[in-house]
Formats: sequence, structure tokens, C-alpha cells
Amino acid sequence: MDIRLASKAEYRYTPVSVFLRKFFMLLVKEITKSYYKKRLTIPVLKGVNFSVGKGEFVSIVGQSGSGKSTLLHLLGTLDVPDAGEIYFGGERIDVLSAIRRDRLRNLSLGFIFQFYHLLPELTALENVLSPLMIRTGFFEYCLKQQKFYERAQSLLEQVGLSHRLKHKPSELSGGEMQRTAIARALISQPQLLLADEPTGNLDAASAKEVIQLLRQLCTLHKLTVIMVTHDHNIASIADRTVQMVDGVIVEPSRQSI
Ligand code: ADP
Ligand code: MG
Repeated sequence: MDIRLASKAEYRYTPVSVFLRKFFMLLVKEITKSYYKKRLTIPVLKGVNFSVGKGEFVSIVGQSGSGKSTLLHLLGTLDVPDAGEIYFGGERIDVLSAIRRDRLRNLSLGFIFQFYHLLPELTALENVLSPLMIRTGFFEYCLKQQKFYERAQSLLEQVGLSHRLKHKPSELSGGEMQRTAIARALISQPQLLLADEPTGNLDAASAKEVIQLLRQLCTLHKLTVIMVTHDHNIASIADRTVQMVDGVIVEPSRQSI
């Protein structure tokens, strides 16, 4: 997939950007973010520094309210930081226009949420296809429909749901809904997958199944993953775990024992 976010003319290949592109999928420098409620300022991220290598599976653990979801939103270009820099594949993304952020999100990022966010009127198959429906123009979608269907069916098979293609979310269990959401996140062949408490709404047995499946698929599809969770057992599936403490990321070597 072409990951360039800008045309060649727009993109400036500085030595730093070439270095970053080669070794890091994501690099975060001194990010800060506050929310403003009436006259109150709520500082949430207080200088986050963080990097993720290509193909790495990283867990971010931390107490509720420590800023994990806020950080994931910024990494997913759903919001912008107040200060600091975010680089994706060597390109600075926190300063992109809204249109180019949308394009990046559609082409290169996949999301998994705690409450699945499936569309209730659509079947499992249609939910998996929905990012392609949104991203592709009507004529292109019609032309490629067969190929898209086959890809969606194959993904639903990979998550063990080949017998649930025509079920709507209300006819699926929690684990099955999250499996459908995983297939949907993978349909656009993203480079980076962002998962916010993917097992937070599941019982222990389903959570274990879903997390093992996620790990297998990410290895199979050579994905880079950042997963937020408050559960250390779930986090331990990752290659590396970092901790979020009161708005900053603490790497294991710097954590107090
Ligand atoms: P976590 O995911 O670690 O539980 P969040 O990133 O969701 O933490 O929230 C961090 C802090 O920011 C919390 O204190 C929360 O109340 C506050 N917060 C989150 N979103 C908003 C918002 N839209 N407006 C105001 N405060 C918010
Ligand atoms: Mg959260």
C-alpha cells in the first residue's frame, strides 16, 4: 500500500525523516494536552515521550483517568495535542490539515474500541466492509465488490466467524462482536492498529481468546500495535509494556519498584 501522505513534491526527505521512517513506526515528543471546561483547565498529558518500532506490539497500562485514551486519540489523529510532535512513518502528523488526517486514518490506521462501535443495522459481513464502503467511491466499490467480499469473508474466517456472516450485532456475543470489530479494523490493511481496552467489556475467558487472536493476527499481518489496557494480564501479551502515570509515559527501566 502506498503510505505516502503527501505527494512527492510536498514531502521533504530530510535526513531526520529518512532515519525516522526506517526505524520507527511512531515517535512522540513532549506531547501535552489539556481539556477546558468552563473556566477550569484539566491538564491530562504532561509531556509524553514515546516511540514504537515497526512491527512492535506495545501495551500501555495505567489507572483509570491517567490519560491513556486521550493519548490514543492523539496517536490516531482523532484529536490534536496542545504542544509537542507526533511522527508516523517519519512524517510529522500532528500538524496535518483535517483532510490529510482523515486520509491517513482511512489508509493506514485501524481502531478497536472497548464497546466495539459496530453499526447495529448492518450484518457482521457488512460491518467489516463498512470502511471500504466509506473510503471507496460508488463506482470503484461496485467494480471491486467481489474482491472486497472475498477479503471480508476471509477475515471473518480468520477470526472464527465464518458461520456468523449474516448476523447483526444484537445477535452476536460480546466476544463475537469484538472479533467482528477486529476483522473490520484489518480490512483496510492498516500499518498501525490502535486498541483501547479491547477486552474491557468481556468476561475473562472471552478476553483471553480475543487477545490471543489479536496477537496472532497482528503477527500474521505484520502489524504494529498499540494497546491500552488497565489489566496487566492482558498487557503481558505484548512485546513491551509501558506505564502511563498521571499524564506521562514511564518506561519499565525508569519505573520505581
Ligand atoms: P484513561 O483512558 O486513562 O482512563 P482518559 O484519557 O479518558 O483516561 O481521561 C483522562 C482525564 O481527562 C480524566 O480525568 C477525564 O475525566 C478527563 N477527560 C477526558 N476527556 C475529557 C473531555 N472531553 N473533557 C474534559 N475532560 C476530559
Ligand atoms: Mg480510557
